Amino acid sequence: MRGAPVAILALLVGCVAPSDVDDPLADVSELGVLSFDATGRTPPIDLGEPSEATFLLARSDDDTCFALEPSLFAARGAALDAVGAAPSRYQRIRCSTGTPLREPLADALEVSVLERDQVTAGRLPVRFVVTERSALRGDSAAQQAMLEALRSELAEAGIAPELTAVVEVEGAPTETRFSDLETDELDALLALAPAPAPGTVDVVFAGCLRRVGPTGLSSAVLGFTGRVGGGGGGTADAVFLPGIRCGAIGADLAPVDVERTAHVLAHELGHFLGLAHTDGGDDIMHTNPLLEGAHGFTSEQARRMRLHPFVRSR
Ligand SMILES: [Zn+2]
Repeated sequence: MRGAPVAILALLVGCVAPSDVDDPLADVSELGVLSFDATGRTPPIDLGEPSEATFLLARSDDDTCFALEPSLFAARGAALDAVGAAPSRYQRIRCSTGTPLREPLADALEVSVLERDQVTAGRLPVRFVVTERSALRGDSAAQQAMLEALRSELAEAGIAPELTAVVEVEGAPTETRFSDLETDELDALLALAPAPAPGTVDVVFAGCLRRVGPTGLSSAVLGFTGRVGGGGGGTADAVFLPGIRCGAIGADLAPVDVERTAHVLAHELGHFLGLAHTDGGDDIMHTNPLLEGAHGFTSEQARRMRLHPFVRSR
């Protein structure tokens, strides 16, 4: 249907759930349930004058992929996005290709709004999920060293990682293949561990990780985040790091280079907390964080990360 857009106001439909201080996503205001029209888009969402600390949380079933315009960070199952100044709407996405899907779907998205407080010094709860495919397994000294190295990577950004638990799991495959929105094998890895406490980032130390690109060719990755642009729901909702060199004879565990792994982990957490890659920048969000000079977060990146609801005030 064309014509005047239907504005969905933030003044709303009611507050969900009693405020739960332990779950940063519990204290949200429901905006309503949206449908995708024949162009695969929802009506615009008019939040009035959103602050830069306004987030939208959208939930669908796990077969539905979508992205908030104009950022278009695609999501499957759920998405948490910082809202820009412009009115936004959701676009349906084809899960297999990541391209827009111009087909209607009724009552597909449950959308809520969340207002964040500015955090100048934050803490970020993380949980390590260590599979038998990682040399970190059973090595609590190396696990602690990883946390310390991560702490120094994030210190300048004003974020202190807090290791809430280490879960050692069994049953992980030597190799895990996935594309950005086809994440069954990553979800199967996550399912080896019990659900984390709300608002905790899972860091999975897996086996060889192969990302399948749009052409069908796969390549080994140094790390993968289930959703660039902001984790906090949806499928593969975690950061994944490899513990085996893909293609190594006998699939030997890679020795853990703590500094290098923590550096890649900090880059992936940047994605989880809302950052995209920088074009040719000399910060850690460069496409290849291992390049010389790809170090540290800019103050703007740090501020964006601290807005993410998983970053609590300390
Ligand atoms: Zn990246």
